[in-house]
Amino acid sequence: MEQHSFEKIRCLIIGSGPAGYTAAVYAARANLKPVLYEGMQPGGQLTITTVIDNFPGYPEGVSGTDMMEDLKRQAARFGADIRPGVATSCDFSTSPFKVVINGEKTVEAETVIIATGAAAKYLGLPDEVKYAGSGVSACATCDGFFYRKKRVAVAGGGDTACEEALYLASLAKQVYMIVRKPYLRASKAMQEKVFAAPNITVLFEHNTLGLFGEQGVEGVHLVRRQGEADESFTDIAVDGFFLAIGHTPNSTLFKDWLETDETGYIKTLNGTTRTNIPGIFAAGDVADPVYRQAVTAAASGCKAAVEAERFLIGKA
Ligand SMILES: Cc1cc2nc3c(=O)[nH]c(=O)nc-3n(C[C@H](O)[C@H](O)[C@H](O)COP(=O)(O)OP(=O)(O)OC[C@H]3O[C@@H](n4cnc5c(N)ncnc54)[C@H](O)[C@@H]3O)c2cc1C
Repeated sequence: MEQHSFEKIRCLIIGSGPAGYTAAVYAARANLKPVLYEGMQPGGQLTITTVIDNFPGYPEGVSGTDMMEDLKRQAARFGADIRPGVATSCDFSTSPFKVVINGEKTVEAETVIIATGAAAKYLGLPDEVKYAGSGVSACATCDGFFYRKKRVAVAGGGDTACEEALYLASLAKQVYMIVRKPYLRASKAMQEKVFAAPNITVLFEHNTLGLFGEQGVEGVHLVRRQGEADESFTDIAVDGFFLAIGHTPNSTLFKDWLETDETGYIKTLNGTTRTNIPGIFAAGDVADPVYRQAVTAAASGCKAAVEAERFLIGKA
């Protein structure tokens, strides 16, 4: 059996999305000798998409995988120690903070930057997987542009779904909201905006059964009042299917130590990346219920590294 090993470092970065790698660039340049663990999805969420058109500096767009490779090489150029490995448990009760990697090694770090991201919730339909990247999206801000003057459906009935539907309505010809309940779970103001939009149709009491299409999504199979005596089936023709039923921040590992909101987003203080424990910082989607974009994740990764450096100077 392998011996459990220990290592002392100044700055540990958990996660290899835009937040983690940007933190690594800044922390390495500040001579914090950061160690970054990539986790189970090296490169983060952008590696499962095709082209990124809204990250500054790429006038022709860039493939998600290429962009993350570039970021990784940039961090490595300054000496960031980038390693495969998943944080499996942690103890933040005393400094240095202890994080166990793959259950077999403990890293003791003076500062920790958590950049573990968030995952969009899906309905769990096989068709969401089948049409991933060819008509199914969980981000209207990212993909709405591809549906200019087209028809789209948005699954969900909360504030986020309304926001996504309104955003899409400014681009698309027709937006259908597929809402399970007979009402919207959104603020009154948001509901009014949705009902006032001439090109949004709200389909109350509808569930999605599946998607269809030869070359990507061409429509949605729906059931109205599922399981009731008057249950009925219908299809709508759309070019895109957007999930807007929420996200799950990857923060479970830290929940015994760090304050989170009711969804699990790590709470940060006053526009910084500082958490409730001095020396522990949270950057990117794991602490961002609002924007969840690559550029905002990268920006907060920069903030986290700068704040980690200042924290260490203050300690010295
Ligand atoms: C399909 C898709 C398309 C998108 N398109 C765009 C777009 O066009 N433009 C845009 O701006 N945004 C887009 N986004 C959103 C963007 O990907 C995210 O906002 C961004 O990736 C968040 O960066 P992050 O660094 O916070 O986390 P993520 O990219 O989610 O990375 C999280 C990292 O944490 C690691 N990790 C998690 N748990 C652990 C653990 N226990 N131990 C170690 N590591 C761990 C993972 O392996 C991963 O490397 C898209 C998202 C998706 C899903």
